[in-house]
Amino acid sequence: MASTDRKPHILIIYTGGTIGMIENPVTRALQPFDFNHLIDNVPKVKMLDYTIEHIQFDPPIDSSDMDPHHWMDIARNIEENFDRFDGFVVLHGTDTMAYTASALSFMLENLHKPVIITGSQLPIGEVRTDGEENLITALQIAADTDASGLPTVQEVAILFENYLWRGNRATKMSADNFNAFKSNNYPSLAKIGLGIHFNYDALMRAQVKRPLKVQYAMDTGVMFLDLNPGITETTLRHQLSTPGIKGIVLKTFGSGNAPTASWFTDAVREAVERGIVILNVTQCVNGGVHSKRYDSGERLAGTGVISGHDITSEAAITKMMYLFGLGLAPADVRRYLNCSLCGEVTM
Ligand code: ASP
Repeated sequence: MASTDRKPHILIIYTGGTIGMIENPVTRALQPFDFNHLIDNVPKVKMLDYTIEHIQFDPPIDSSDMDPHHWMDIARNIEENFDRFDGFVVLHGTDTMAYTASALSFMLENLHKPVIITGSQLPIGEVRTDGEENLITALQIAADTDASGLPTVQEVAILFENYLWRGNRATKMSADNFNAFKSNNYPSLAKIGLGIHFNYDALMRAQVKRPLKVQYAMDTGVMFLDLNPGITETTLRHQLSTPGIKGIVLKTFGSGNAPTASWFTDAVREAVERGIVILNVTQCVNGGVHSKRYDSGERLAGTGVISGHDITSEAAITKMMYLFGLGLAPADVRRYLNCSLCGEVTM
C-alpha cells in the first residue's frame, strides 16, 4: 500500500456494460443505467479508505456500441486527470473489453500508472453478482504500490474474477463463466484468491518515466478477413478490395496456414503490391503463427504477408488502427507490426 499516509486517489470512469445494467420492465432486456445506481449497490466501497471520484459516459452504453471515439473519450478523461489520481478504474461491458484494453494500451504512450478495466457477467443489483467483487478488487489493484511507493501496475490491465490480465493480451473466452477472460499466450499479472498475488516478473515496468502522451487518432481503415475452408476467389478478392481499407488482419488456420491454390496466393500478393498491409494471425486461441512450419504457411509468407506471431486479434486490429493513425507509411506500419510496442506480442 501507499508509502505515505495520504489516501489513494482513484478515478472511476463508468462507460456502461452489464455491471451497471437494470432490466427494462417491458422487454425484460438488460439496459445500461446510471452510476449512482451502481455505487449504491456496493456500500462496501466506503470501507476502502480511498478518495474516489467518478466520470460517467452520458448515456452509459452496451460495449457492443464502443468505437474509437469512445476510446478517445476514455483516454481524454485519463489524460486530463492523470496528475490528480494514483490510478484509474474503467467500468466497461465485457463484449468488447479486450478491444478497448488493447486500444488504450497503444493510445496511452508512456503510461506509468494503473488503468484497470473491469465489469461483470451479472448486473450489480443481482444477488449473485460478480460485479461487487470485481469493482472492489479493481480499486484495490489501482491503489496498490510497491515497496518504493511506485504503482504496482503501470499498464492497462483487465481484472476479472480470479485474474488480472495484460489488457492487450486478453480475450473474452466465455459468455457464461465468471472467469470470462484469459491471456492464452501470456501469464496472468496477478491471481486473486484470499489475497492479491502479483506476478512481478510479468508486470510491465517503465524503464524511464516520461510524461504521458496520448495518441488520439485511430484509423478505422482496417478489417478482419477470416478464412474458412471453401472460401471462393470471388469472396476473397471482394474483401481484399474493400474500399478505404489500408490494413487487414488475416485470420488463418493453425500456425498461420492458408489455401495453397495459386488464385489464393495471387490475390493476396496483388493486395500487398497495392500497398495493403496484411497481418497473419491464427484463428487458434493458443499459440501463434510459425510461417515456416508448413508449406501452406510459407507460401502465404512469400506473398508479403507479415507474421502476427502470438498477438491476439483484438490487439492486432487496434495496433493497426494506432499505427495508421500515426500517419505512417505502409512500410513503417509493417516495421512496427514486427515488434512489440507495449508487451502485446512475443517476438
Ligand atoms: N453486452 C454487455 C456489454 O458488453 C455484456 C457485458 O457487459 O458483460 O456491454
